[in-house]
Amino acid sequence: MLFNIFNNRIIYSGVLRTENPLHIGAGDNSLDPGSTDVSVIKNSKGIPYIPGSSLKGVLRSRLEMMLSVETVKKNWSVSACDIFNYPCITDEFIKSNKDKQRDNPLEYAQLIWEKSCDVCRLFGNKSMAAHVQIKDLELISGGQVELRNGVGIDRETGIAARGVVYEYDVVAAGSEFLFEMIADNLDEKSEKLLNILIKMLEQGEISIGAKTTRGLGKVRIIDLQQSVQTPESLIQQYSNIWGE
Ligand SMILES: [Zn+2]
Repeated sequence: MLFNIFNNRIIYSGVLRTENPLHIGAGDNSLDPGSTDVSVIKNSKGIPYIPGSSLKGVLRSRLEMMLSVETVKKNWSVSACDIFNYPCITDEFIKSNKDKQRDNPLEYAQLIWEKSCDVCRLFGNKSMAAHVQIKDLELISGGQVELRNGVGIDRETGIAARGVVYEYDVVAAGSEFLFEMIADNLDEKSEKLLNILIKMLEQGEISIGAKTTRGLGKVRIIDLQQSVQTPESLIQQYSNIWGE
């Protein structure tokens, strides 16, 4: 694995359609069923959008979940750490390699790569940048915001709190957002894993936002296109522009 060198870039683009209403809330209270009047996240023009980081987070946890189950079942040679509780790169490891990081950054990067699990190799961790970026998804069509009523949940007991009703906004089903994902320098295994997630998105098997267990947030990617850039193709592109 070579670092800091551009090998290839895959650009995935398409349309993400909401199969049922979508709730990606604005602010920290979006996931809190006890809060009231939760609005959907909007850009500066007041138009709903989907933060790329939200979708990326969902894809990451989906892959973590899938691998932790499938690796055991199918004896795959892929690994997934539990990024919050048992990360593959621990704070102790980072601390004990401080000197190496300072004196020999390339060797350090190689070490981090070797110690990182397959999910982190794709989506990054504290010590390594992600190889995948998803742009914020701008609205193309639809996007009507509808008001829903919810029942508050008692935090202690986990059951419906009597008399607590709150309102939240959702983006209507059938809304369409522009999807663009950029993957840089993927190795073969990372590309395979990413393609599994892409397939799932195309098949409508992934839900995003809040209240997904209550039937919200199912999305599907349609009209997916994939283009590959390599150093050679970039040179080709530029020489076309300059007419050489
Ligand atoms: Zn990891």
